[in-house]
Amino acid sequence: MVNFIQQEIENDLKAGKYTDGIHTRFPPEPNGYLHVGHAKSICLNFGLALYNKGICNLRFDDTNPTKEDVEYVDSIQEDIKWLGFDWEDRKFYASDYFGKFYEYAVELIKRGLAYVDDLSAEEIRQYRGTLTEPGKESPCRNRSVEENLNLFERMKAGEFADGEKVLRAKIDMASPNINMRDPVIYRITRAHHHHTGDDWLIYPMYDFAHPLEDAIENITHSVCTLEFEDHRPFYDWLLDSLGFDVNSRPRQIEFARLDLTNTITSKRKLRQLVEEKFVRGWDDPRMSTICGLRRRGYTPAAIRDFCERIGVAKSNSVVDIAMLEHCVREDLNENAARVMAVLNPLKVVLTNVEEGAVEFLTAENHPKRGGCRYVPFTREIFIERDDFMEDAPKKFFRLKPGGEVRLKHAYIIKCNDVIKDAEGNVTELHCTIDPTSKSGGATANRKIKGTIHWVSASHALKAEVRLYDYLLKTDENGNVPEDFIAALNPNSLIVVENALIEPSVKWTAAGTHYQFLRLGYFVVDYDTTPEKLVFNRVVGLKDTWAKVKSNS
Ligand code: ATP
Ligand code: MG
Repeated sequence: MVNFIQQEIENDLKAGKYTDGIHTRFPPEPNGYLHVGHAKSICLNFGLALYNKGICNLRFDDTNPTKEDVEYVDSIQEDIKWLGFDWEDRKFYASDYFGKFYEYAVELIKRGLAYVDDLSAEEIRQYRGTLTEPGKESPCRNRSVEENLNLFERMKAGEFADGEKVLRAKIDMASPNINMRDPVIYRITRAHHHHTGDDWLIYPMYDFAHPLEDAIENITHSVCTLEFEDHRPFYDWLLDSLGFDVNSRPRQIEFARLDLTNTITSKRKLRQLVEEKFVRGWDDPRMSTICGLRRRGYTPAAIRDFCERIGVAKSNSVVDIAMLEHCVREDLNENAARVMAVLNPLKVVLTNVEEGAVEFLTAENHPKRGGCRYVPFTREIFIERDDFMEDAPKKFFRLKPGGEVRLKHAYIIKCNDVIKDAEGNVTELHCTIDPTSKSGGATANRKIKGTIHWVSASHALKAEVRLYDYLLKTDENGNVPEDFIAALNPNSLIVVENALIEPSVKWTAAGTHYQFLRLGYFVVDYDTTPEKLVFNRVVGLKDTWAKVKSNS
């Protein structure tokens, strides 16, 4: 693992810090489902721990009672496990530390480093100053320690209304860093908390709670995204002020968040898509949530590989989604069994094949891994409508009137007649097979340019196949516009009701991957029942990322 955070860890170890080993954490707020950006953070935090033979905690950062829910607590655990990481017995809730946070706040007051303020939220904002002007001190700033202790206790006891008082750190109203201008560290909110119920009326602010959570858990490296860079001075100030040893206490290191073209990575916006029913749910295969990616057919190995390849940077940039697609394509190319399916069927009658006869051909399941299955071959088959063209250009190497093509794993056929309905639509082709051309057969010595896939009409299984496109229309750089609802792609889901699949896939259950020859990678969807097959297209076969790479 080479990245700048690992470098920092090694520097710390060389300097004699963190002699008890490396300890990281993944700290989601349980206010939504995890998305692909979180996957990066999970891979990084658990990855750093594994690499350094350390440990990584799962911590629910649940200090904000209003938006959080147990539904999310459960889904987060499922997603991390699915990605392949293990927090063992170290699952923690920041809310379990509410008592400790309170004691630390009291300690700050005793050290003259925090005070109860009566200013309203609006006044605090006005007093804060701007980037160019210093802030103004609150009239409450010089309250005595005794008065502050008394007021803070009464805040806890519920003697004041929501918002009537706050506890603030006493640092420097003239600091060039606005986060150091006496930030609020506790507020009064009469809100029910999903984990602590109605025990608390006051709640710590994120910036106060997070460093303490890390310190309480003996975290060594607190990895977070770049927007917290300006908060680091407060992180350090707090731990300094409370006397935590600089050689063992946690340090915050920021890295660039993952942004992907064509993709939303904000829980708030993802929730809006679900709540306003623009998608079928959090696990809709078009969503960038981990459960959406899972349902879409992405594999844990592909997502981990992607997170490794994008690396860890110190400045923000947008990653091309084609790279994520490349990773899953590579994984499925190695691991998915090949089968034949026809999405847009055109009937073909093979007039020199006996009616009712079935020939079981053997077909390899994978070009490298071997393994075979039987594919029934009969007088009536279906091919892809696109694989026939009546007025075909010279370079069209599939089926045309009078032309020949090979049926994969079977025979070369010749198109003799094109049957049409009253409107002139092609309804059926009449072809003949060349019996000497059987794939792998002793007499198959004839080469031909085109090979197409097919299924037996009497054996094929009906299936619903869901084809996905990006959920959002983006500009030429793949950026999602601010008004993302207006940019929703009306064609992001196309349902093919009556696709036909070769019978070997009968009774496969959700989560099984296939390559449909020439069409792409597909996965069996959770909606599948023994009576009805439903597939999702994971990704097509064409690798645009490989192309991007070779052009650059
Ligand atoms: P969102 O912006 O979607 O609400 P968040 O940052 O509020 O996400 P948290 O639950 O606080 O969500 O995130 C847990 C961890 O995941 C944090 O350490 C956060 O820095 C990290 N994280 C969140 N989004 C990304 C991202 N796009 N790329 C990398 N890490 C991320
Ligand atoms: Mg957050």
